[in-house]
Amino acid sequence: MIIVMQAGAMPDDLDQVLRRVESLGLRPHVIVGTERTVVAVVGDERGAASSGLESLAGVASVLPILAPYKVASREVQAEPTVVRAGSLIVGGGRIGVIAGPCSVEGREQIVETARAVRDAGATGLRGGAFNPQTSTYSFQGLKEQGLELLAEAREATGLAIVTEVVAPEDVPLVGRYADVLQIGARNMQNYRLLEAVGRTRLPVLLKRGPAATMEEFLLAAEYVLAGGNRNVMLCERGIRTFETHTRFTLPLATVPWLQARTHLPVVVDPSHGTGHANLVERMAAASVAAGADGLIVEVHPDPAKAASDGAQTLDVPSFRRMMDVCRRVAAAVGREIG
Ligand code: PEP
Ligand code: MN
Repeated sequence: MIIVMQAGAMPDDLDQVLRRVESLGLRPHVIVGTERTVVAVVGDERGAASSGLESLAGVASVLPILAPYKVASREVQAEPTVVRAGSLIVGGGRIGVIAGPCSVEGREQIVETARAVRDAGATGLRGGAFNPQTSTYSFQGLKEQGLELLAEAREATGLAIVTEVVAPEDVPLVGRYADVLQIGARNMQNYRLLEAVGRTRLPVLLKRGPAATMEEFLLAAEYVLAGGNRNVMLCERGIRTFETHTRFTLPLATVPWLQARTHLPVVVDPSHGTGHANLVERMAAASVAAGADGLIVEVHPDPAKAASDGAQTLDVPSFRRMMDVCRRVAAAVGREIG
C-alpha cells in the first residue's frame, strides 16, 4: 500500500506512521517527492486492513499499489530516479554511456580502452572480472586481479567502474572495487544474489533475462529495492526468439513501456542485443531515439583478439562514430549525453 502524507505533516507524524508500519511486520520505504511525502509499504499486508493507519496524524490517504512490483512502480514515485556513481549519471534527461571490453584481459588493454572511451565521451567503464560463460571452457575472467586492474583504470581516467558479480558470496569483494554492480542476464532471477546486492548501497545494473517477461524483470528489480537499495538501473539486452540473424532480438519498445511504469532508469545494451559489431551503432542511436537513459557497449582496442564477445565488440574509431551519431540523436530528442 501507499500511505500519502498530508502536505503539512510533521516529522513526528511520519515517525509514528513508520513505527506503526513496522509493528505490523511490514517494511516502510519513505519517498520524499517535490509535492508530497509518501510511504510505500511492502510485505504481507493481510493484517494491515484494520490497523487504523488512515486515522494517524498527518496521513492524507492510504491506497493500494495496484502493480505487482511496488517500490519500482511509478504509482509510488512519479519522479524518475537518477542513478549517480562518480562520473556516471543515468536518468533525468542525462544519458550515461558505459563502454569497455566484455572482459578485463590485462593492464594495458583495460587502461588503454578506458582512456579511449573516456575521450570519446563515455562516463562509465565496463569490464568483466567474473565472466559467466555459456561454456565452462570459455575464459571466466581474471577474478580479483581483474578487479584490481579496473581500479587502476578508474585511477587513470576517473571513470566509474561497472562490473559483474555472479554469486552472493562475491558481493563484498566486488563491492570493494566496483562503483556499479552488474547483475548478468543469466542471474536476473537469482534471488539470493538480488537480495545480497539489495543489502549494499552500491548502484546496480540489472540485466533482463533472455527469456524474462517485463513483469518478471520488474519483480527482480523489486528484490533489490525491497532490501533498501534504491539505485537500480534496468538494462534491456535482448531476448531469445526464433530469430537467428542476430544473437538475441533487441526489443526497443521496452524502453518507453518500462518508463511509463517505473521510475527506474532504462539502459540498453546494443552489443549483446545484436551480437554483431556492424549493427551496434544504429541500434545504439535507435535506443537513444526510443528514450533510453543509458547505453552499455562493448569496446576493445583490437576486437579480433578479444578474449570474449569479439564479434559484437566495437573498435575505438567505431565507438567514436557511434558516440557522434548518438549525440546528434540525443540533441534531436532533447537529451544530453554525458
Ligand atoms: C556482459 O555484459 O558481458 C554479459 C555477460 O552480459 P549479459 O549478462 O547481458 O549476457
Ligand atoms: Mn559480453
